[in-house]
Amino acid sequence: MQIKDLGEFGVIDLLSRLVIDQRAGPGNGTPFAFNLAVDSGDDTAAWSLPLSGANSSGQLDSPQLIELFTTDTMVEGVHFTRKTTPWQDLGWKSVVSNISDVASMGGVPMYALVTLGLPPNTHVSDLQSLYQGMIEASNEYGLSIVGGDMVRSPVVFITVALTGAMHGQPMVRTDARPGDLVAVSGFLGGSGGGLKLMLEMPDESGATADYLRDCHRRPLPAVGIGQALVEAEITAAMDVSDGLADDLAKLCKASGVSGKIFADQLPIHPLLKKRFPKDCVNLALGGGEDYVLLFCGQPSKINHVVSELPGGAAVVGELIAAAEGESGQVTVFDDKGKELSAYNRGWDHFGSVKK
Ligand SMILES: [Mg+2]
Repeated sequence: MQIKDLGEFGVIDLLSRLVIDQRAGPGNGTPFAFNLAVDSGDDTAAWSLPLSGANSSGQLDSPQLIELFTTDTMVEGVHFTRKTTPWQDLGWKSVVSNISDVASMGGVPMYALVTLGLPPNTHVSDLQSLYQGMIEASNEYGLSIVGGDMVRSPVVFITVALTGAMHGQPMVRTDARPGDLVAVSGFLGGSGGGLKLMLEMPDESGATADYLRDCHRRPLPAVGIGQALVEAEITAAMDVSDGLADDLAKLCKASGVSGKIFADQLPIHPLLKKRFPKDCVNLALGGGEDYVLLFCGQPSKINHVVSELPGGAAVVGELIAAAEGESGQVTVFDDKGKELSAYNRGWDHFGSVKK
């Protein structure tokens, strides 16, 4: 069997089981003083600092300092091409994709390690541009690059490992319930629209083209919004990196529920709607790399929070109880309440094409 037969989530399940069954730490009766608050399977891992404050079941008794830790990799030809993402923007995105995972828990980014895989013929000036983009993102969001590693590689890849910190309870994928509303913190589909534009009409100019290209090349992680959601006592969230439909399915699976998305409620920016009127819903559902936050909670709370958030936040769906063994199913409905059977379902990391 090959990993593509298992799929991304089959592989993650396999490795998580291996690690959790055999590692030193929580549940395995070791002398180590772990205070794990969020285990593998979420946007980041999280633990409490100092090493006290968690009760015997690992739950946090009171708000205190939580450390977050995440990593993300971008591979040339898989996640980016140099044609559509210049080196400086690549640097920005490689840092921002990690910041977004920290933001999805409600944290702020702290320290990063950068591992680069580079072909020997890489130009020094390109490397400087890459780091310029990383430093811009680091300075914008208050993190420090403090080291890393470098290896020879046939294609460019960039791995960033990032720590973060927060007070309070990290938002997780596992805390959603049937009856919850599903909301997103900003416009969807802009990044996918930007990529589509650059692949199909690379020379297009004007305000719409500028907006869409920026969505793809310079996404903005929702750090302030994540903090606001924790303050509003939202407990279930993740970031939208692979596409709303796919990411909601992950959250539903983690929480043991199923989800509905109402296509006519998707927040789509007017410029995206104008430029791609036929494709904008598909781009919003499956384009990915928008880095807005997806969050769930009781209807009164979600409606209130959405009304307070600036910039395109919207309720986009609801959660329902899952049939036996069927959690993680997401169904999309059109404006007439009819099920959309063919839509862009997002990204599987080991699939050869979009699902
Ligand atoms: Mg994520």
